[in-house]
Amino acid sequence: MRSRGVSLGRLAGVDVSAEFSTLLIAGLLAWSFAEGLLPAVVPERLPIVYWSVGIVGSLLFLGSLLIHELSHSVVARRNGVGVRGITLWLFGGVAELESDPPGPGAEFRIAAAGPAASFVFAAASFALSLLVGYANGPRVWVVMLGYLAVLNVFLAVFNLLPGAPLDGGRILGSVLWKIRGDRASGMAGAARVGMVVAGLVVAAGFAEMWFTGTMGGLWTVLIGAFLFSAARAELAYYATRAALGGVPVSSVMLHPVQVTSMRATIAEAVHGPFATSSQTALPVVDPNQQIRGLLTMEQVRRVPAERWGVTEASAVMYGLDAAALVSPSDPVGDLVGRIGASAHALVLHEGRLVGLVGPHELQRAARLPAGGNPVTSTST
Ligand SMILES: [Zn+2]
Repeated sequence: MRSRGVSLGRLAGVDVSAEFSTLLIAGLLAWSFAEGLLPAVVPERLPIVYWSVGIVGSLLFLGSLLIHELSHSVVARRNGVGVRGITLWLFGGVAELESDPPGPGAEFRIAAAGPAASFVFAAASFALSLLVGYANGPRVWVVMLGYLAVLNVFLAVFNLLPGAPLDGGRILGSVLWKIRGDRASGMAGAARVGMVVAGLVVAAGFAEMWFTGTMGGLWTVLIGAFLFSAARAELAYYATRAALGGVPVSSVMLHPVQVTSMRATIAEAVHGPFATSSQTALPVVDPNQQIRGLLTMEQVRRVPAERWGVTEASAVMYGLDAAALVSPSDPVGDLVGRIGASAHALVLHEGRLVGLVGPHELQRAARLPAGGNPVTSTST
């Protein structure tokens, strides 16, 4: 996960932050405007003019990225999806949504809102450029505003490439979702296309370097490589979700579940419940049998064996916020991405602990069809 960066405050009710890499982009843009574009098109102005217009121009470009992400966020809110925040970074911006869109229509609208905003920004910037021109305003501003319009058209078109994780990929995913009736399967399809699109972007970057004999295409190659790894991660995530599909948690969970107490030592847990069950985690209960946390095998391994006899479960256990709390009828597919740092889910029915799901159960579930029976494996 990337860091959240420096907070820039709240806009339209959304937390906005920027990574330090954004400064690098702003600086590079300002420099290329002030030393490249502006002097080439409008010669014989003072450096202070080029630089002041260049710096304001690069800030306006960052503003246009922000407007793009804000549109995703506002439309998401309007469709009942919460927004965790917006982060600007090296490759543009990201709006983090709190949950999946409720339907393919909402997914489509949220995805399309960003490029639509970029087109609107481009049109406004172009109109302003014309206006300054007609009014015989400064030529540097006519050029700067016109160039910002071009950049935003490019931004919108690039984002509309039909492959996840780009907006165009989300749009494609929403269409596949509508056709296939399943979000995970639709998004997995868009991610597969995304890997192909990313490969083409990388190839275009190399072609650019080959034919121009400059390093200009390197940036395109980097963006393509980033898109490829993001698409591959999306594919892994959604393919697992699609495979898990509608299998209910109750059909894969371990039960009954052995627990340990807050005051029990790690040695007692290891020689007791861990030894006599196949559980990879033990719910930790207080004297009133209320669950307070989760002690995983992973945490036990991090404590030196000679400390096992004197370390209490409560000293190293995860809090309940690090595990997913689910009900037996929830689809297993929903657990992916929700199981938290502990990598386990506690299954509760009417407030009582009835089961446990860990990495092994999830792996086993991925080999089950929707009906819950094991698939005959065709691989060796
Ligand atoms: Zn977007």
